[in-house]
Amino acid sequence: MQVQEEIVRRAHLQTGTGKRRVYSGKYALSSIVFCGHCGDVFQRTHWNLPSGKTIVWRCVSRLHKKTSGIDCPARTVTEADLHKVVVAAVNQALDERDTFLPALKESVGRALSSPNSGLVAEVDAKLEKLQKELLKKANAKQAFDSIADQIEDLREEKRQLLLEDATNEGVMQKVRELEEFIDSQGGPVTGYDEALVRRLIEKVTVYDDHFTVEFKSGLETDVMI
Ligand SMILES: [Zn+2]
Repeated sequence: MQVQEEIVRRAHLQTGTGKRRVYSGKYALSSIVFCGHCGDVFQRTHWNLPSGKTIVWRCVSRLHKKTSGIDCPARTVTEADLHKVVVAAVNQALDERDTFLPALKESVGRALSSPNSGLVAEVDAKLEKLQKELLKKANAKQAFDSIADQIEDLREEKRQLLLEDATNEGVMQKVRELEEFIDSQGGPVTGYDEALVRRLIEKVTVYDDHFTVEFKSGLETDVMI
């Protein structure tokens, strides 16, 4: 289910500028690093310097300035720095586990403590009543269009309520995963790990003087680099 969710997410991936980007699955950071200036995605590319080849990540609008028509001032980030940012964010999360985890669970728990089950039951009761009325009218060969419309509206309402509950459950699952990861870590993370990024990180935004790292659980942390 999680894999399917991820496939759907990536298929619908859009940049802040509304353009679709083709997802490249080779690097965990592909398609999750965004520009704080123009909202476009950062792309991995090579820089040839006198000192040798360096791998850097650059804002796509800036990289393709001629075709994008956007003169984005976003900085270029070396891959080494980007990896440092991820490691620092994960370690910040580990350091603050005692403060942020309870807070995160409480806020998600609040959302879950008022689930829509009561409202769904109300809608179900209304639906049942209307369906009986509809049958009566149909049997008496009376018009039942307005009742059919009301039933359709209620079904849509129920779909929305169930969808909200499913979203809350998905977020709680991500929080549990982060908690499990944190509990399984003996000490700080020492090196960059692609699997770690795929598992924990939702989005990285590049600003002029810092990065914002968003975890899949909803937790956000700033890293100054
Ligand atoms: Zn940009």
